[in-house]
Amino acid sequence: MKEIMDRVALITGSSRGIGKATALKLAGQGYAVCINYKSNHEAAAALLAKIQQQGVRAIAVQADVSKEAEVTRLFKEIDEKLGRLTALVNNAGILLKQTTVENITAERVNRLLTNNVTSCFLCCREAIKRMSTSHGGAGGCIVNLSSVAARLGSAGEYVDYAASKGAIDTLTIGLAKEVAAQGIRVNCVRPGFIHTDMHADGGEPDRIERLKSGIPLQRGGTPEEVANAIAWLLSDESSYSTGAFIDVAGGR
Ligand code: NAP
Repeated sequence: MKEIMDRVALITGSSRGIGKATALKLAGQGYAVCINYKSNHEAAAALLAKIQQQGVRAIAVQADVSKEAEVTRLFKEIDEKLGRLTALVNNAGILLKQTTVENITAERVNRLLTNNVTSCFLCCREAIKRMSTSHGGAGGCIVNLSSVAARLGSAGEYVDYAASKGAIDTLTIGLAKEVAAQGIRVNCVRPGFIHTDMHADGGEPDRIERLKSGIPLQRGGTPEEVANAIAWLLSDESSYSTGAFIDVAGGR
């Protein structure tokens, strides 16, 4: 695959799961790619090697995107090593062990919101500085990862996580309008029931097995099926879509 000059993508949280599939998809389309991860250095290094074999430029940067100074460092490294960012995928997110709201703690809610919401605001801020025509940029695209949990509420499992994704939906709607005239499109993908290790983090690795009879398509989805929607929203094929949502959740 020959790299398409000028297309530079950051996928936050791309050492595994949906982020990894998205990094591979975008590299396959000729983007220069920044893999970002928080802790899994080995997985990020293996993905980096795989992408570099495809003949596109790529870097892997450890940075906790819930921390402002680390986000600043991440974007500076992209500036220096890949050039001006044109595509941001706000994918990094966490899920904590299933609980009810009556058992929730402030520490837990704050941790969830910092990792799933503050991180996206910070990365959007840095991306706008580079993409906006008001700052001499050539425009760009942002795709936020929400969840169908924002609609369904995740009762008895993790209402805090669902609420954090509700915030991502609202961020998408507001920011899309705020930066539309600056050449930036902002869209959102809402996955659900995707086969990744995130469900084990929530305390139920086989959660999709339990729920799949209630999914209209009767199965869980793959990270690649989500990556396809993200790639479309980043592409010129979706040039008249901003503030839009694609649910990738088998009909739920
Ligand atoms: P996953 O398998 O748990 O992977 C999460 C990735 O995010 C990992 O690469 C992890 O890095 C990284 N990460 C977490 N916190 C980070 C931070 N503060 N800074 C930088 N990287 C961080 O997740 P997934 O299932 O692929 O989900 C991806 C996105 O889709 C998330 O936003 C999730 O909420 C959303 N989503 C998933 C599903 C689903 O069914 N799987 C459904 C709806 C929405 P390390 O491993 O290096 O720590």
